[in-house]
Amino acid sequence: MTSVRVRLLVLALAPLVLLMPALLLIAMTRWTADYDRLLIANVESDLRIAEQYLSRLMAGTGEDLQGIAESAQLAVVLGAEKPARAAFLDRKREVLGFDFLYFLPVTQAEPAAQRWPVIASGLAGRAETSIDLFQPEDLEAVSTELAERARIPLIDTEAAVPTTRTEEERGMVVHAAAPVRFGGQPGVLVGGILLNRNLDFIDTINALVYLNAVTGGERQGTATLFLDDVRVSTNVRLFEDVRALGTRVSAAVRGAVLDEGRTWLDRAFVVNDWYISGYLPLTDSFGERVGMLYVGFLEAPFTAAKRAALLWMMLAFAAVLVLFVPIFLRMAEGIFAPLERMTETMRRVGDGDLSARNNHAGAKDEIGQVAAHLDDLLDQVQDRDRRLRAWADELNQRVDQRTAELREANEKLEATFRQLVMSEKLASIGEITAGVAHEINNPVAVIQGNLDVIYEVLGPNTQPIDTELALIDRQVARIQAIVGKLLKFARPGDYSGSEESVELCGVVDECLVLVSHVVAQGKAVVRKAFAPVPDVRVDPGEMQQVVVNLIVNAVQAMGPGGTLDLALLPETRDGRDGACLVVADTGPGIPEDRLASVFDPFFTTKQAEGTGLGLSISQTLIQRAGGLITVRNRPEGGAEFRVWLPAAEARQDDIGA
Ligand code: ADP
Repeated sequence: MTSVRVRLLVLALAPLVLLMPALLLIAMTRWTADYDRLLIANVESDLRIAEQYLSRLMAGTGEDLQGIAESAQLAVVLGAEKPARAAFLDRKREVLGFDFLYFLPVTQAEPAAQRWPVIASGLAGRAETSIDLFQPEDLEAVSTELAERARIPLIDTEAAVPTTRTEEERGMVVHAAAPVRFGGQPGVLVGGILLNRNLDFIDTINALVYLNAVTGGERQGTATLFLDDVRVSTNVRLFEDVRALGTRVSAAVRGAVLDEGRTWLDRAFVVNDWYISGYLPLTDSFGERVGMLYVGFLEAPFTAAKRAALLWMMLAFAAVLVLFVPIFLRMAEGIFAPLERMTETMRRVGDGDLSARNNHAGAKDEIGQVAAHLDDLLDQVQDRDRRLRAWADELNQRVDQRTAELREANEKLEATFRQLVMSEKLASIGEITAGVAHEINNPVAVIQGNLDVIYEVLGPNTQPIDTELALIDRQVARIQAIVGKLLKFARPGDYSGSEESVELCGVVDECLVLVSHVVAQGKAVVRKAFAPVPDVRVDPGEMQQVVVNLIVNAVQAMGPGGTLDLALLPETRDGRDGACLVVADTGPGIPEDRLASVFDPFFTTKQAEGTGLGLSISQTLIQRAGGLITVRNRPEGGAEFRVWLPAAEARQDDIGA
């Protein structure tokens, strides 16, 4: 999901954050290049103006000179005395602003023409103006003052070609010559202007170029005249009021302009700052490159303007970013938020929360449709899950029900099986016992019959042996009673039906008399707690048999000195009133794993002394009487048997029903 989010963000922001700056960069680069070209074009046109001014100056100088050369005044003066001529020429020089003005008659002009092509031209009859370099002696020849004015001490300049020279003594001169053709005195009129330290000249150029109405005062312009590479006239300042006369041009410019003769139009380091510069090579009358004309304006304001423009653009871009990025982000959010919601929904469903939904009701776009479709599918899944769970629950219930039924049936089967086994065992015991009893009954009957015969035959003569005969009679009666009991014991079914309403406390008391010798032998203490209980319907003999068995077992289990508790209490079971006899002892109790087995026939722990039939028969008898016999171990120790029998009236009702 992150990758989708990132991709969407890139898609949304790339045009703004990447493409726009790239476009801006291209536009700015292009604009800067155009701007630089414009500046160069500007300086080029400035240089043309300066060049034209220089040409104008030279042409003006030539014309002025020619005017004088052809004037009638000169013709008159040439015919006059020398001082008058000198005074005239001096006056004219001052009026025209020349630095020197003199007349050479042909004889003197010829050697001078050898030296100066300008003079040669004048001699040949053509007025000519050119730039020439005057050596110090040439200047000295004109005047010491001129030579002095031309002299400029060199100042060490950064980036200039190194030099050992310390002073520039040569002078750069606008050198003009015009022919004088008067019959009497032909010759050449020579005049000129020294450009070294000629600040008027350079300030005029500067004013022309930079102080015009169009450019106003915006550009800080400079103009310079170089003699060779030395500034001989300039308005470039070294300090506030000191012009940079004597400083030199940089080596790069010197190489390009003076050595190669190219016009330099580029930025250049001038004295102490960068300028947009134009350098024009100047040639003298010999065709030699003797100097340069320079104009330029300070680059810094334009660089600052460029920087300001760039800054403005960047600020504008930042503003656009600040303004539009949140809008783009919100639009992107509109796409990836539903996608994230869907992922979250799937995660919750995966964790088991089938009720999780996208709830994307509002959106009508493709994502909204997908979300809605997903919700539909989840509805179906949840519905199926619900039905499956319902089926599973129903199935479990059925299995539980069936299992309970099976368990019940199994228990019944086991009980039935146990009863069957017991019945069979009892039946076989009954057979044997019945056989034995029958076998005993016959001899006893013979003994009894013969005893009766003795009484009949002897009559009163039996007196001497009456005691012995009575003893035999009692013992035979006892044998008959025992055999009767044995038969009853072995075949209880044969003796059933003799149930009667019995008062239980009476039965228990009788039993205590019967087992008194056992209790006494076992040194047991008997405690009775008989609450009034309803009469029960049971065979009193069978009931006696059950109680005797329970008491004997308890006494045997306790060993000498135990306490036997006998209690009678009324108890209602399953809504039926009844009486409960509790027989509890202080013996060791019955191990828990054997509790269920004590009612099994032949289960005994008494080895040869026990038959294991007592409790089994007791259970049969009590169950047949509609009651229940149970056993448990008392928490305080010892076993507790409870015999419950339904009340006689209740049982009567049952039977009646
Ligand atoms: P018998 O007494 O011949 O062994 P019973 O059926 O009367 O046969 O008793 C079965 C077994 O139950 C006894 O052997 C004895 O282990 C156990 N039993 C019966 N009553 C008690 C009792 N009060 N305390 C401890 N064990 C008992």
